[in-house]
Amino acid sequence: MVSGAPARTAGDESSVALTRRARRMYRMLHEHYPYAHCELDFENPLQLLVATVLSAQTTDVMVNKVTPQLFARYPDAAALAGADRDEMETLLKPTGFFRAKTNSVMKLGAELVERFDGEVPPRMKDLVTLPGVGRKTANVALGNAFGIPGITVDTHFGRLVRRFGWTTEDDPVKVEHAVGALIPRKEWTMLSHVLIFHGRRTCHAKKPACGACPIARLCPSYGIGETDPVKADKLLKFELAPGATNPYAASTPVLPGSPTAGASAPAGQGAVPPATAGAPSQPRGIPTSTGATAS
Ligand code: SF4
Repeated sequence: MVSGAPARTAGDESSVALTRRARRMYRMLHEHYPYAHCELDFENPLQLLVATVLSAQTTDVMVNKVTPQLFARYPDAAALAGADRDEMETLLKPTGFFRAKTNSVMKLGAELVERFDGEVPPRMKDLVTLPGVGRKTANVALGNAFGIPGITVDTHFGRLVRRFGWTTEDDPVKVEHAVGALIPRKEWTMLSHVLIFHGRRTCHAKKPACGACPIARLCPSYGIGETDPVKADKLLKFELAPGATNPYAASTPVLPGSPTAGASAPAGQGAVPPATAGAPSQPRGIPTSTGATAS
């Protein structure tokens, strides 16, 4: 039995069936968000680590507005460590909690210089010893700056995997291990991206757009949000190419357990046109998930 996974879900599902369903849901979401990626801008591991620390309680969009100036002024760990505190606080002010964040970033720079020759270490056990860095931030850095698979359990990820019935755990570390047992390791980083994208765009905390959801037929929580396709479509915070329409808006999702449940989606359905890849994210007005607590 997978640790943290329900022995049987609502549909009396075995652990084998759960694994199959989880992998299928992941594949469908990956097709739906083929351009899913880390939404923080960075050019090297240090920039990503700092950006992730700054993303606590703000949006990635806001962090991306602040970091170009920050990294131009303080390009390496030594510069961050020796920064003028008042100046850095002014730069970081738009991200909120700017005094604490200035403190964390300066201490982070100092520790990197003192213990790692100014470089970001590519190991979880080292990363989590750094100021302001917990497993979530470490997994963001490992997965996106070093290509080492990591599961980023943020507020979106945890909410979604519980709604999906993949786990009943609340503790982020237990969620990480439970989900890691369902999905192949090499997919962990992309899994994190597509779930965070889905949480930001469709399966919102308060108003999930079930009627416009590409995995509705495999989700035991279908119906907790708006199921009318037209109304659900209006809930999407979903960048589409100009003139494009949501491919799910016109069709009613197949409900879990219905005769057609399990049928494959039509080829190409759900894939946002490539023209949208890299399109600027919409301000979401919710705390970032990539580093909501930067821990
Ligand atoms: S069906 Fe509803 S609850 Fe399930 S993943 Fe889709 S939006 Fe979320």
